[in-house]
Amino acid sequence: MPTDDATDLIELTREICRKDLAPRVDDAERARTFPEETFRTLGRAGLLSLPYPEEFGGADQPYEVYLQVVEEIASVWMSVAVGVSVHSLTAYPIASFGTPEQKEALLPGMLSGEQLGAYCLSEPLAGSDIASMTTRATRTDDGWSLKGTKAWISHAGHADYYTTFARTSDDGGRGLSTFVVPGHAEGLSFADPEKKMGLHCDPVAQVMFDQVRIDEGRLVGHEGEGMHIALSALDAGRLGIAAAATGLAQAALDRASEYASEREQFDRRIGDFQGLAFLLADMEAAVTSARATYLHAARLKDAGRGYSKEAAVAKLVATDAAMRVTTDAVQVLGGAGYTEDFPLERYMREAKVTQIFEGTNQIQRLVISRHLLTR
Ligand SMILES: Cc1cc2nc3c(=O)[nH]c(=O)nc-3n(C[C@H](O)[C@H](O)[C@H](O)COP(=O)(O)OP(=O)(O)OC[C@H]3O[C@@H](n4cnc5c(N)ncnc54)[C@H](O)[C@@H]3O)c2cc1C
Repeated sequence: MPTDDATDLIELTREICRKDLAPRVDDAERARTFPEETFRTLGRAGLLSLPYPEEFGGADQPYEVYLQVVEEIASVWMSVAVGVSVHSLTAYPIASFGTPEQKEALLPGMLSGEQLGAYCLSEPLAGSDIASMTTRATRTDDGWSLKGTKAWISHAGHADYYTTFARTSDDGGRGLSTFVVPGHAEGLSFADPEKKMGLHCDPVAQVMFDQVRIDEGRLVGHEGEGMHIALSALDAGRLGIAAAATGLAQAALDRASEYASEREQFDRRIGDFQGLAFLLADMEAAVTSARATYLHAARLKDAGRGYSKEAAVAKLVATDAAMRVTTDAVQVLGGAGYTEDFPLERYMREAKVTQIFEGTNQIQRLVISRHLLTR
């Protein structure tokens, strides 16, 4: 049974989605604008800090509840749900590996949404193989100097801080460290946003670090601990993507079911043809399974148990479900599904990227199979 807190939070999210997000999503996605004010609204409502400690402005909610909130947001505005998940990921290294001083100094701004984050892991030549990254952090008298280029960074140019992974030694994956770089740091610059297939309100661009100097206090965790921090953050982040993909698939299914209940051909509603009814049934099964996999992984996480394999399963199952369900939803609407008069074609474009970011689905299979092999 959900707690009263959880029920209230989901209800609050639905209300914000209905009043604030739903009326704006179509125009904003067409105009490709970054909905900065929406993130402030979600922050003020306490929805950017759900799984983090109350002591620093969080809501101390189980991860399961946070993910259900992400699912709700995604069912209305996928770019914003992805943004919430990315932002949550940027706070994870400080919340889990930061010193008490770092938590006190940085977490309240992050959790209130006053400060929006970006997560700088990928590079032009280091995507799936993050251990091959070349962005380098070199010690200075009073801190560090960062040089290199990150790629595909969500919120690039809009974020107030950049949670960044950089090489501090040549020791492969053991030579990476984690830093929090202020958005106004000198030497930080941004390329033009990528021209993407979808998720148009999530600006993604390269971030260039040209001898960006930061204080010693901006190193998170130990030197050389970056790979461990990145992978641990990605386990949690993957669940955010799984929840968002589930919300997107649910939205597509709802629209398809409505249409199949109304539209008539051959003097019957199209949903009465078994060919289409079974398609809808398979879509429902896919969405329900997707939700079950992310909730299962979240419950393990909330119980303090290992959940890395289950997070990879959830990401794989939910994002493949989103791709299939959104594609089939276009089919249910026929020609109308292929037009911008309905959001289905957008959902389909948005689903595709969920199979690619936060570890492609091939990489999820690698993670899962490594857990299965005994030596
Ligand atoms: C819209 C968007 C937003 C993003 N946001 C962020 C962000 O905020 N921060 C960030 O750091 N990154 C971000 N990314 C980057 C994303 O995480 C990478 O695109 C992803 O990890 C894949 O890396 P790549 O694109 O370099 O592909 P590659 O690693 O070059 O992979 C290309 C293909 O090869 C396959 N492949 C690679 N290695 C293997 C293997 N060992 N076995 C089998 N197949 C393999 C992949 O699955 C893929 O199909 C974002 C990407 C997109 C598109």
